[in-house]
Amino acid sequence: MLSRGLKEELRWLGFTLVCAAFIGYSLGAFWPSIAIAMLGFVLWMFRKIALLEKWVANARRLDPPSDDFGSIWGEIADDVRLLNKRYQKDKLRLQAVVTRVQEMTSALTDAVILIDNRANIEWWNRAALQLFNFKDIDRGHKLANIIRQPRFVSYFENQEYNQPLETHSLHKEGQHLEFHVHPFGHGERLVVVRDITRVKRLEQMRKDFVSNVSHELRTPLTVVKGYIETLTDSPDMKPTWQAALNQVLKQCDRMSALVNDLITLSRLETEESQSKQHAVPLSTLLDSIVADAKELSTHDNHQFSVSGDQGVTILGNDRELHSAISNLVFNAVKYSPEGGKVSLTVRNTIQECIVSVADTGLGINPKHIPRITERFYRVDESRSSELGGTGLGLAIVKHVLMRHDADLKIQSRLGYGSTFSCHFPSHRVTAEKAA
Ligand code: ADP
Repeated sequence: MLSRGLKEELRWLGFTLVCAAFIGYSLGAFWPSIAIAMLGFVLWMFRKIALLEKWVANARRLDPPSDDFGSIWGEIADDVRLLNKRYQKDKLRLQAVVTRVQEMTSALTDAVILIDNRANIEWWNRAALQLFNFKDIDRGHKLANIIRQPRFVSYFENQEYNQPLETHSLHKEGQHLEFHVHPFGHGERLVVVRDITRVKRLEQMRKDFVSNVSHELRTPLTVVKGYIETLTDSPDMKPTWQAALNQVLKQCDRMSALVNDLITLSRLETEESQSKQHAVPLSTLLDSIVADAKELSTHDNHQFSVSGDQGVTILGNDRELHSAISNLVFNAVKYSPEGGKVSLTVRNTIQECIVSVADTGLGINPKHIPRITERFYRVDESRSSELGGTGLGLAIVKHVLMRHDADLKIQSRLGYGSTFSCHFPSHRVTAEKAA
């Protein structure tokens, strides 16, 4: 179906040809007259095209030129004008959205930095400006050239952003920052930086408080315990008092265990994890732990076994490793009935070394396992207290393993026993060749 403008154009062509034919026929020059008319029509068309081209080229101009195009050229001009209007409208709307998003991110207290797909800085908000002192000339430069913190540079370049990075600031002393990187689009990244100095300070205050309280309690507790022991040993003590004093002594022991565990935990939290590390021979460590566990189990006759790869050493802190594995072995003894089996196994593979402590004891209901390493979490509060548990043993184990880049895995069946496995990564392990 022809458009109205095209029909009009054809009408004009027809009219021109009829006029040319009539004039040509009356003058006796039919074909020359048709040729001149066609030439005139083509020239007229060219003029319209030139006008339209000039107007389209000047795309910003919304109004049509004063000269009316008419016919098909007028219709094309109207379409172009409509598209132009729509484009201008969309542009304004998008500009408004961009401005609004920029205003919103500027209002954020977290620093936001936009990185393009070539790892160059594209944009930043006001908080980022205050935090990193960005200058206009930094736009288009690599972020790693501006935030030169080595830990940040390797985190940013490794492209593994599952966990945020916590580090101190190079721009302001005492300031702690948390970096989150969110990849999006086609290789672009959004870096969100949070100032966590206050949180860190509060955390430090909590750690200091627990550590100070534990140390402060230790001395009076030792004095009280000393006097009670003297009183219990006294021959003049009445038997009625004896039972009461034994109870007090038992509670003192519980409190001492708790204070000691709290001190161990706060030391694990505050000490540099790389301190006092050397190759710890596993067989010696396990033998000494089993010897202590046998003492604990004198009345219950537990059966102990140590098996698996010999000559394996773990790079770490021997005191911490002793504390972690002994906690697991003592738990195995505590939560296994008389005559239960406690098996320690070392399995060294290419990827890791697994030290596991298995028992044939009570087992743990699977619903407790995800929370069992939390501080003071006990499956059975009364049983744990009765057995002298502090509820901090597994929290210590988890902390120690974390400081040795290792993981704790727990498998258990209620009524059949449990296996606690420590998985040490290969870079922490050396194994002697069998003699
Ligand atoms: P606790 O000092 O109470 O033993 P832990 O942190 O060492 O504290 O252990 C937390 C809880 O996990 C314990 O109260 C106990 O219920 C459970 N548990 C730990 N080890 C075992 C085990 N080998 N068998 C059964 N339950 C265990």
